[in-house]
Amino acid sequence: MFFHVLLTPNCDLKCRYCYEKSCEDMNADFGDFEVDYSVPNEISYDIGLLKKFCEKDPEPVLIFYGGEPILCIDKMKQIMDSIEAKIFVIQTNGLHLNRLEPEYVNRLSTIFVSLDGDEELTDFYRGKGVYRKVIENIKLIRKNGFEGELIARMTLMEETDIYKNVMWLLNNPDHPFSSIHWQLDAGFWKNDFSKRPFAEWVKENYDPGIRRLVEFWVQFMETKGRVLRLYPLLGVMQSLLHKEDSLLRCGSGWSNYSIQTDGHIIPCPAMNGMKDYYLGHIRDSHPLHLERVYVEQPCSRCEILRECGGRCLYANITKRWSNEAYSLVCKTVKNLFESLTFNLPRIKRLIDDEKIRVSDFEHMKYNSCEIIP
Ligand code: SF4
Ligand code: SF4
Repeated sequence: MFFHVLLTPNCDLKCRYCYEKSCEDMNADFGDFEVDYSVPNEISYDIGLLKKFCEKDPEPVLIFYGGEPILCIDKMKQIMDSIEAKIFVIQTNGLHLNRLEPEYVNRLSTIFVSLDGDEELTDFYRGKGVYRKVIENIKLIRKNGFEGELIARMTLMEETDIYKNVMWLLNNPDHPFSSIHWQLDAGFWKNDFSKRPFAEWVKENYDPGIRRLVEFWVQFMETKGRVLRLYPLLGVMQSLLHKEDSLLRCGSGWSNYSIQTDGHIIPCPAMNGMKDYYLGHIRDSHPLHLERVYVEQPCSRCEILRECGGRCLYANITKRWSNEAYSLVCKTVKNLFESLTFNLPRIKRLIDDEKIRVSDFEHMKYNSCEIIP
C-alpha cells in the first residue's frame, strides 16, 4: 500500500496557486464538512506507532509530503532510519534538497520536484530565485549519486503555455529530470474560478497544446525509438494498450492513503483535517484493510469514468467549483483521451515492428502522480 506521510503543512514558499489562493479562500465556507483546524504542524505521534503500522504491510511505500517535508528533516530521517519501507518517495519544493545528506537522498526511489517550466514562469508562480536554487540542488543530488527517478512536477494556470514549457523542460540540457508530470490548478479553490480566464486558456492553449504534445511524443517514438516519460500520456496510454479500466488514478482512497501529523488516516493529502473522511488512526488500523472511498456524482454517472477514474477525489467530494465550471476540466480529460486514442494505432504499429516495447510504458503507479491532469 502507498502512504503519504504528512510531515508538516508548513512551507517556506508563497506560490500563487497554493499560498495565495488559500489566503483568498480563507473565509470560504467548507459546505457541510467539519474541518479540524487543530491538526498539529509537525508529527505528534510516536514514530514507533508508524513502524508498527507499516510492519503489518509486507510492501509499504512511504511518500514524504508537506507543506515542505524537508522542513522536518529530522523526523524524515528518523522515519527512514527506523522503518523498512519497500520504497521511499518525496514531493518537495526542491529548495532544501542540499540539506539532506546523500546517504538519505540516494535511498529515495523517486523525487518529485515542483518546477513549472522555464525560469520566468517558475519564478512568476513560485517566487524570484526559486528556479535557480532548485536547478542547483537537483544538479547537486545527481552529482552526489542519486540515480532514482527525478520528476519535474508542473502546476498549470493560465500563464502556462503547456506545449512550450514541456518542450523546454525536455530540451534543456541544463537539468537532469527523468520524467515530467503536470497538474491543472482546477477545482481546488472556492473563490478563483470567476476571476480566471480558464475557459479561454483551455480552448486556446491547453487543449491544442496537449494535442501537439501527443503528436510530438508519438513522432519521437517513431524517429528515436524511445518513449518519453510524460506521465499523463504514459499512464493513460499504458491503460489503452492493456485495455484496462482504472479506479481513481492517483490511488487516493483505495491504493494510496495519507497519514496526518496526528496519526489519523485520510484518503488523500489534500483532505487534511476533514473529519468526515477520517478512516482510522495508525494506532489501531490495518494498512491493508482500510475503508475504500469512491468518487461520487458527477463522476459516478460519467460515460468515461472507467477510463478517467474520476480525476480527483478531493475536487469531486468538496465541489469547490460548480458542475458547470468543472465540466470544462472534464473536457480537457476527454481531449487527452481522444488525442491518445487517435494515436493508439501508430503506437501499436511501433510495438509490432519492435521499435518500442509495451514495457516502455511501465511506471510506478500510485506513487503520488495523479496521471489525469
Ligand atoms: S471526465 Fe470528469 S466527470 Fe468524468 S470521470 Fe473524469 S473527472 Fe469525473
Ligand atoms: S488528485 Fe485529488 S484526490 Fe488525488 S491526491 Fe491529488 S488532490 Fe488528492
